[in-house]
Amino acid sequence: MSAQPLQLFDTYERRIRLFEPLKAGFVGLYTCGPTVYNYAHIGNLRTYLFEDFLRRVLMANGYDVQHVMNITDVGHLTSDADSGDDKMELGAKRMGMNAWDLATFYTEAFQKDLTALNILPPSLWCKATDHIPEQIAFVADLETKGFTYQTADGVYFDSQKLSDYGHLARLDIEGLRQGARVDPGARRFVTDFALWKFSAPEDQRQMEWDSPWGRGFPGWHIECSAMSAKYLGDLFDIHCGGEDHIPIHHTNEIAQTEASRGTRLANFWLHGYFLQLDQAKMSKSSGDFLRLESLAEHRISPLVYRYFCMTAHYRTQMAFSWESLKASQTALNRLYQAAFDWGESGKVLPDVVAAFEAQVNDDLNFPRALAVVWELVKSKASDGDKKATLLKLDDWLGLDIGQWAPAELVVPASVAALVVARQQARKDRDFAAADLIRGEIEALGFSVEDTREGPKIAVLAS
Ligand code: AMP
Ligand code: ZN
Repeated sequence: MSAQPLQLFDTYERRIRLFEPLKAGFVGLYTCGPTVYNYAHIGNLRTYLFEDFLRRVLMANGYDVQHVMNITDVGHLTSDADSGDDKMELGAKRMGMNAWDLATFYTEAFQKDLTALNILPPSLWCKATDHIPEQIAFVADLETKGFTYQTADGVYFDSQKLSDYGHLARLDIEGLRQGARVDPGARRFVTDFALWKFSAPEDQRQMEWDSPWGRGFPGWHIECSAMSAKYLGDLFDIHCGGEDHIPIHHTNEIAQTEASRGTRLANFWLHGYFLQLDQAKMSKSSGDFLRLESLAEHRISPLVYRYFCMTAHYRTQMAFSWESLKASQTALNRLYQAAFDWGESGKVLPDVVAAFEAQVNDDLNFPRALAVVWELVKSKASDGDKKATLLKLDDWLGLDIGQWAPAELVVPASVAALVVARQQARKDRDFAAADLIRGEIEALGFSVEDTREGPKIAVLAS
């Protein structure tokens, strides 16, 4: 067990709390997974990385973590107001594919992204479409307890029946009530949400099931309440997702579970804040967004992106820029090279590990933990001890530091010519031109560093 107790910020209580598991030595962790109608964008991946940082910190604190991640392959509509199309059915039309094949295709693409980012796979994956009976049973239980009503297009949760509906997001229900306009759907109140939607005859859905209320499909939120209860119980330790889940998805998961089981679903609620890309590159539904593959086209490896995400605290929004990504690439390259140059491992320095742990146990402060890493690099400790310590810290960092070796340097003639041209520009004190040429060299996958012995060329991390 680590000396610095683990503290985490719980969105439900809006404060940092000492983490204590519900069952000694064990942590039940549920993280909302992707809606598999398209590739994950790098913003989505920031959330999964934060969850991986959490998972590794929990493991390092000695907990046996049962990590459940769902795959949303039905019922997530384009509008949060429970109207609009099912994203999966739309995606199937877009791709000219069967919705089931579409789900398989994007689930595999997602899992490949997680592997490339060194994100530990969950202990258990669960798909919404594999748990229709569990979701129907959950809705039936809510019906028996008087929390539902039926309209022409579905079965809805009656949020006004729950006295503290919206607590997670601190929703101003009274304000909403006063400002309530006639709802576009058939809902009684603006925060009511669909538990089961009926298939519209004109829709010809590919994914639909019979239920006690009619043929249709589950609402998005019910899958997480039903599957987390099945695999982790009615109250488990930690539930995570992106910050956008606070006002609707997680609010509604809590409402369902509170109404049916009388618990707040999870003891801790953790949310990863957004990576901010400009609007056009942000939206998964627009189809025009940055994903891991787009970074690869710029010779930015997945582990560089992993490092980049560690440079900001998970509870702060993070602006995306190519410049900061490049800075992470340079930093990671330096770390790899340093560890490689240190040679054989010596012994782990416990003070450094403790300093690192104190930071990550302080609500996952990875930016400060990285500062501890750089202090180690600059310290006067022996190379062997630095190496052993850094390799130990890689249990948290997940950067494959021990596996890295410099690529054999084969400098193409084009790069060599650019390096000569850059030297000339520097001699002529035309630094703007020298910088431009450096950009061209980097675009070809090489870095150039000016040393006393002359320009040093290396391969960029990839
Ligand atoms: P989705 O596949 O759309 O259900 O989203 C998957 C996950 O990504 C959810 O946990 C979202 O909260 C999260 N997410 C969506 N956009 C961003 C973003 N720009 N930055 C970080 N996380 C995001
Ligand atoms: Zn969920």
